[in-house]
Amino acid sequence: MTIVRSNGSNGSNVSQSPLIPDLADVIKSKKEQNIPKPDLPEESQEQMERMTDAVRTLLEGVGEDPEREGLLKTPQRVAKAMQFLTSGYKQSLEDIINGAIFDEGHDEMVLVRDINLFSLCEHHMLPFMGKAHVAYIPNQKVVGLSKLARIVEMYSRRLQVQERLTRQVAEAVQEILEPKGVAVVIEATHMCMVMRGVQKPGSWTVTSAMVGVFEQEQKTREEFFNLIRHQPAFF
Ligand SMILES: [Zn+2]
Repeated sequence: MTIVRSNGSNGSNVSQSPLIPDLADVIKSKKEQNIPKPDLPEESQEQMERMTDAVRTLLEGVGEDPEREGLLKTPQRVAKAMQFLTSGYKQSLEDIINGAIFDEGHDEMVLVRDINLFSLCEHHMLPFMGKAHVAYIPNQKVVGLSKLARIVEMYSRRLQVQERLTRQVAEAVQEILEPKGVAVVIEATHMCMVMRGVQKPGSWTVTSAMVGVFEQEQKTREEFFNLIRHQPAFF
């Protein structure tokens, strides 16, 4: 059995690759600068401008003045942040696994627990955050441990609902390794419930996805749940 605790402060123990270059730094809005930037595809420039315009509209909508000093660069900052927080759309499983699959003949449970995750709910585009625990029972093939955290990261950096995120991580592990089983549990707290709506700080949501032996055999499932039992601490 292999158990890894992920302690990376950025949500995993994997360094972040800046998939999205500093778009907002590169592109000033048309109002400020009208020089085309040849190092960016025209489509991205246009998209960035549309995003910054939309943020300006939002600011006006809440009664703010987008021209006041403190807010001048906010539309670009928000657009840039959104690009980063949704950069998972530009990644694929193939990209992140990058061949890191090994034939080890290992057939005991592999568990990476406490993978920090940060995502945005697709209903409010507000953050939800928590921890993912990902386990599988190999059928010969294993994947580099950090890749499990990268899979969680890729699907988290898209607009999500927690249930789908959980299922997607399980299906991804199933797809790349064809293991005997996969188990994924995500525990998260949703800012759309904490800061608005029912306003219940401290509430958290648990979702699970079980595939193969984890679905079929209660004993295997129990072993997994025993291994991830802990007091969640989100803040
Ligand atoms: Zn929400």
